[in-house]
Parts: sequence; structure tokens; C-alpha cells
Amino acid sequence: IMYVKVFKQSHVTLMKTICFFRHICSLNYVKMEDGESQLLSDEGQTPEPLLGSLDIFIFSLIAGLLIYWFLFRKKTEPVLDFKTFPTSFIEKMKKTNRNVVVFYGSQTGTAEEFANRLVKDAHRYGMKGMAADPEEYDMSELSRLKEIPNSMAVFCMATYGEGDPTDNAQEFYDWMQGTDDDLEGVNFAVFGLGNKTYEHFNATGKYTDKRLAELGGKRVFDLGLGDDDSNLEEDFISWKEQFWPAVCEFFGVEATGEDSSIRQFELVVHNDINMNQVYTGEMGRLKSFQTQKPPFDSKNPFLAPVSVNRKLNKGGNRHLMHIELDIMDSKIRYDAGDHVAVYPINDAVVVNRIGERLGVDLDTAISLRNLDEESNKKHPFPCPTTYRTALSHYLDINNKPRKNVLYDLAQYASDPQEQENMRKMASASPEGKALYQSWVLDSERNILAILEDLPSLNPPIDHLCELLPRLQARYYSIASSSKVHPNSIHICAVVIEYTTETGRVYKGVATNWLKNKEVTENGHKHTVPMYVRRSQFRLPFKPSNPVIMIGPGTGIAPFMGFIQERAWQKEQGKDVGETILYFGCRHKNEDFLYQQELEEFERAGVLTQLNVAFSRDQEHKIYVQHLLKKNKEQLWKLIHSNNAHIYVCGDARNMARDVHTAFYEIAEEVGGLTHTQAVDYFKKLMTKGRYSQDVWS
Ligand code: NAP
Repeated sequence: IMYVKVFKQSHVTLMKTICFFRHICSLNYVKMEDGESQLLSDEGQTPEPLLGSLDIFIFSLIAGLLIYWFLFRKKTEPVLDFKTFPTSFIEKMKKTNRNVVVFYGSQTGTAEEFANRLVKDAHRYGMKGMAADPEEYDMSELSRLKEIPNSMAVFCMATYGEGDPTDNAQEFYDWMQGTDDDLEGVNFAVFGLGNKTYEHFNATGKYTDKRLAELGGKRVFDLGLGDDDSNLEEDFISWKEQFWPAVCEFFGVEATGEDSSIRQFELVVHNDINMNQVYTGEMGRLKSFQTQKPPFDSKNPFLAPVSVNRKLNKGGNRHLMHIELDIMDSKIRYDAGDHVAVYPINDAVVVNRIGERLGVDLDTAISLRNLDEESNKKHPFPCPTTYRTALSHYLDINNKPRKNVLYDLAQYASDPQEQENMRKMASASPEGKALYQSWVLDSERNILAILEDLPSLNPPIDHLCELLPRLQARYYSIASSSKVHPNSIHICAVVIEYTTETGRVYKGVATNWLKNKEVTENGHKHTVPMYVRRSQFRLPFKPSNPVIMIGPGTGIAPFMGFIQERAWQKEQGKDVGETILYFGCRHKNEDFLYQQELEEFERAGVLTQLNVAFSRDQEHKIYVQHLLKKNKEQLWKLIHSNNAHIYVCGDARNMARDVHTAFYEIAEEVGGLTHTQAVDYFKKLMTKGRYSQDVWS
């Protein structure tokens, strides 16, 4: 009622104010609504008081608000223009004279990088291309591509998780599933990015290729299947070496011989910039680290203070750690089984050495501006920034550079031999492949090692910054339950550090950075930019269902959350089913992670069985799968008769596969199934969500 009254009165006041000014300006008469005209002065009449005290109050309030709005309101900080609403890629292609569009379904940036490389290549064949994020465009326009003469859509599609499309390709994937559009006359090709250690190898790439053809699209070249477990870069190079000649034949074009090493971004040096406008590591909004505003996500991570950082292992030369991130006041919610994404910072020593080697002042403020003004991507990373920030926060300087980086940098090697070697490594020739494999991959040379080992190579740092891929967030399985720890997220991780073939020490970026995150340093709380990513790895809906968890090494992480949650459910008086853990480590006295907590849970009856495989405490190896086999009767009963849910977490390459095999054997030996039946049996369990994996390779 108050609001309505004030609103009505404001309206009246406003009208009165207008009258008041008209009165001042000697305008005679203003007719107002609702019979208020008698308040106005006609020539010769004595006017009644024009504004009452409530009017004056409201008038002052409006005036005050207007003054505040124009003078004191905090200006909105610029937000990076990464995403726009879905637009027409057809219109954009027509407007900018392009005939090739390369869409990417990318989670970690590799598919996007490949798409950009294909766009660059297109120039060599007299074609004009653009890389495009399917999330930003109206993909239902695909059938209109034929309106553009000699056009083609290429898809670089990564597969993610359990055969899923990447987040940015989900909508396009859904569209493909539901549409019956006629794609006749639409030329396409697909390169899939996947990993053979995963069950659904390249599922998204395969589906895209199959579906576009089903809808009537014309496949210009065969589906490419990249395998990250082996050599994704090589797979991509080999594919495109054959893809382009096929494209030439298809469209009847020829290579122009033009070098594809062309710049996509131009350097702008800001000599006189206000440093308040310079990005210092933010992912989206400038100054978002100073003024944190929820909701927190990949573009707006929360700076979580580190509240616990302790070493988990009692011995050995590794460092396994338990870290707790304080999420109080962040409004961040999570469930046991989710992942926490962390944005790490590169080692300052490596950043400085790159600066020294290239002889640049790393604190120069710069922008890299896209030469293609029509592009949605204005900068390769948040700009303006400094070289130091770019190399510390935004660029991946720790991994082995891909071939296109070597190719583009080769022009800056003044020694002909070094230049030739770089070009050779970038090529698809057998000799080049072998050299790249041994000199870059096997020797694990990152960009600094390459600069150190090729003394004549002196690229401009801005070109290097353009070429290096973006530093990615790292995902960890959350090692806590929000029912028990609503205000903190726990991480269990092993610090990656080893000596490479060249005698250099390889240090994992994120784990080494996390290791050094002291809880407080001189009263200053260390923080970690993070956000939560939802997962499908979930406890059964009914707590009474038994759970069998298999997680050797740091694979224990999500199970700490699961066990905490089962304990909480028990406390709530719920009927909680059997909770069985299979953990594995090297030595009982060295890396039995969370031993005390696990034994406590066992004593309390929360963990109904704690099985630990100590692999190196005896002559022969004992692994989790050996213990599974030992308990085969009990396990088969739980799975087959009691609706048990199976969870596997940890190494994808060997452990997850070996565990899977052990289950097949159990089904065969105890359940009497044939091998094919056993495979089918566990496939069905997977579809029902009763066999879940959270594995990394
Ligand atoms: P870990 O301590 O190296 O291994 C845990 C236990 O698993 C050890 O007892 C080990 O035995 C055993 N094991 C080795 N091969 C096995 C197999 N095929 N089946 C069953 N058990 C096996 O574990 P971790 O340090 O936590 O690392 C686990 C794996 O995940 C490693 O491959 C690591 O590189 C990877 N990882 C990946 C990430 C990532 O984000 N990509 C993060 C962390 C770890 P032995 O060593 O005695 O053979």
C-alpha cells in the first residue's frame, strides 16, 4: 500500500513539477488528470500553494536520486565480450565473404585451436574461413549453407566425459538429435578429438559425422579420429594433410602456395594506460578479484581462501596433499561427486626466464587485437594486460608446443639449420614426425626449453603470446560432502614432479602452485580462483542401496565425500546399505591416504568393509582388482541380487580397465555368464547409472 501511495504521489508530484515550471515560464494553464486543474493558476486568480510538503519531499528524493545516478554511481566495469546471443553465421559469412566455417566443440581449448588452424590453412587454398563456437550461432541455419557458393562446414568435435559432447556443443548436439532438416547441398567434414582409454572413444565426432550424412549433407572428406592417449597432434596433422587435397579436388581449387603463417592479432602497446584498466589475471570482468560478486563460474571464479593444506603421506619422495578451500559467503553449492575447477598460475621463475631470454620488459601493458574486426573473439586472452600476466595466468607455457607453434616460430630462427629443423618437425613427413616425437614429445621440451636449446630463435614475444594455447582450469574430484562441510571444498592431489630426458625438472603447474599455498603468510590469506562443475558421479538415490567404491591412490578423493555423506545419512536415521571401499597404495606406512579417517569410519560401522591393496609391501604386486577377485562371491551377490552401485575413480589408462576386466571375470566365474554376456551385463549397468567412472589419463 505504501509503495502504491508513494508511486501515485510521485506521479502527481511530477505533474505538479511540470506545472510549476510552466507556471514560472508564465504559461497559463495546464490541465491535469483527475481534477487537479484547480490547483493551477489562471491569469488573475490567486493560485493555491503549488507544492505540498510531501511533494517537496518526493521531488527532493527524485532530484537526489538523479544527482546520485549521474555523478556518484559506480561505473560498470567492462565485461569481456566473449559471448554474444546466437546470431546468424550465414549472414556473417555472406557479409564478410567467407565460404568456410569451422565449428568447434571444445572443453579444454584444443578443438578450438584446431579449428583456428584449419581457418588459417583455408587461406592457402584461396578460401576464406572463420572459426565459430556453435553455442554462439543459430545452428538450425545449417541447411542454408548451400546459399553460399563453394561453401563447407568443418566440425572439430571433442568428446568429453562418458561419451558426451562438450558444454558448448550440447545445444548443437541436441539439435542434431531432434531435427529432420534437409542438409542436401551442405558440404561438411568432421575431425573428432577423443581418448582411447575411455569407453566411448570419439563418440561425439562419430555421431556428428554420421548424423550430418543422414540428414543429407555431403561428406567432403572422411571422419578424422584423434586419440589423445597416443598422439592427437599427429592424428590431426595426418588428417588435414589428406583433407586439404580432397577439398581441392572437391571444389576444383588449387593451393595458392601462400604461407599460412599469418598473424591473427596485432600488437598494441599501451604506454600511458591507467593500470586500473589492465587485467591482472581475471577471467571475465575487470577487477572481479577485488569486488567478488556471485554467481561464480568459469568466467567469474571465486577466490577461495585456503583453510587447510597438509601433507597426506607419511613417507616416500612424493607429496600427496589434502587442501580445504573456504567457500563461506560465496553461495557456492556442491554435491559429493562434483568437480572443483581451479585456475592455477604458472611458475614465476619460468615466466621470468622467458622474459629474459627474449629480452623484453614483462611489465609492458599491451593488447593483442584481432585483425578480423568481424570476429567475436576480440583478443586471445583478456586485454589490456601485461606480458607478465599473460604468461602467468592466461597462457600454457609448461606443455610441449604443438606443431603449428613450431611452424610459425621457425621464421624467427636466424640459423638456417635450426630453422630447417623446426620446419621439418612441423611437417607431416616421416622424418619430421620422428624428430618432433623425440625432440619435443619424448624429451618434454616446453617453450622455454625450446628457446634455450635453439639459441638463434628470437620470436617477438607478442607473436609467441598469440600462438601459445590458453592455460586451462584444472579439475579435481571433490573430496568432501556438502552435507558435512557446506562451507568448504576438499581436494586430494599428488604433486607432479619428475626429471625429463633432457635433465630438466618437469613440474605440474597446478599441483606445485597448490602445494605452496600456505594457509596464511604474514597474516595474508592465500586464495585459489575456483568454481564448481557438476558431474554425474552420484551416490544412489536410495541410501539403502549398497555401494562398492574402487579408488586407488588419489582416486580415493570422491569417496571421502561419499563416505562422509553415508555417515551423515546414517546420523539422520536413514537405512544406509553396505558401504564398501577398495583402496590401493604403495606401502602401508607411506601413502595409506586418510588411514585414520577411514579406520574411524570402519569402527563406526559407516564403512562396512575397508579393503586395501598395498602394492609394494611384498614381492608381488597386489592391486585393488586382486582383492575384488578374492571377494567375488560377495560382490556378485551385491551386484546381481542387491542392486549395488559400483564406482571407479583414478587412473583411466590401466587401473580402470583392469578393474573392469575383473568384474567381467567375476560375472563369468560366479554368475556363469559368457564373456559376451558379461560385457553386455556391465554395459547395461552403466546405462542404468549403476557402474560409474570418474577417471583421468
Ligand atoms: P599411485 O599412488 O601412483 O597408485 C596408487 C596405487 O595403484 C599404487 O599402489 C599403484 O601400484 C597401483 N596401481 C598401479 N597400476 C595399477 C593398475 N593397473 N591397477 C590397479 N592398481 C594399480 O596413484 P596416484 O599418484 O594417485 O595416481 C594414479 C594415476 O592417476 C596415475 O597414473 C597418475 O598419473 C594419474 N593422475 C592423473 C591426474 C590427472 O588429473 N590427470 C591426477 C592425479 C593422478 P604401483 O605403483 O606399485 O604399481
